Amino acid sequence: MFKLRLLQLAILLLLNGFPIFAKDGQFKIVTSFTILEDLVLELGGDRVSVTNLVPRNSDAHIYSPKPSDAVAISNADLIIFNGLGFEGWIFRLIKDSDKEKNYLISSDGINSLNRFNEIDPHAWQSFKNIRIYIDNISGELINLMPEHEQYFALRRNNYLKKLFELEMNLSNQLSNIPIKKRIVITSHDAFGYLGREFNIEFLAPLGLSLDAEASAEDVAKIINQIKEKKVTALFMENINNPKLLKAISKESGVPVGGKLYSDALSEIGGPAGTYIDMMRHNVKSLIEAFNS
Ligand SMILES: [Zn+2]
Repeated sequence: MFKLRLLQLAILLLLNGFPIFAKDGQFKIVTSFTILEDLVLELGGDRVSVTNLVPRNSDAHIYSPKPSDAVAISNADLIIFNGLGFEGWIFRLIKDSDKEKNYLISSDGINSLNRFNEIDPHAWQSFKNIRIYIDNISGELINLMPEHEQYFALRRNNYLKKLFELEMNLSNQLSNIPIKKRIVITSHDAFGYLGREFNIEFLAPLGLSLDAEASAEDVAKIINQIKEKKVTALFMENINNPKLLKAISKESGVPVGGKLYSDALSEIGGPAGTYIDMMRHNVKSLIEAFNS
């Protein structure tokens, strides 16, 4: 058994190259997707090294783990993921790891939304919720590295301050827009929490995840709703194929308002390279489309 494990490890290393080892003293954290990677780097600073699994602009709902992901999990001191059914594939990776693993479900304690008889996993699309994620992550870092408590607390407070300023700024801008104009078409239903927080209605032909295709009936229903409610905002997403949205735009005559970042950040330096940039970009794009 032991020999087999060694052999598996040797093959993994040959296939993927040696994993990058953390600098001395850094705590090794694996995150499941880019939004958590960004939060952990913001909160953990140089006391942590982060290996992230689902890349930027990629879809975590239908992700297939790579052999290098198993190596990263096996080397990690802590694994942080969203939960709420978002990364169904991660439990197998943790279970198959050779030792007991510390993990943190970062959404723990949020007030979850149920849509279509399913829990909506996209809880990070909310300022209120992300503060709970921040408390969970920061609390766990302090718990595991109490010697750096002051450092982590300072980083958390600075980050919360930036978030609060952004939230106030965006909600001020939104307050000028009548509620009945705040309707948006997207491809999958990733913005329920943002909608609840800012009184915006999101309509999506694909439902909560991307493992199904929209039926002709779903599309016809959306086109009718667009006409009935005089919708002016229609957005593609960074993680999926724009074909469906372009067809809806053509059929309904509503122009595509650009791209919203739903389940992954953009490339570094892009419009949604960090969580804060993503929230700013998404809400500002919506405001522009409502005003058009
Ligand atoms: Zn999603």
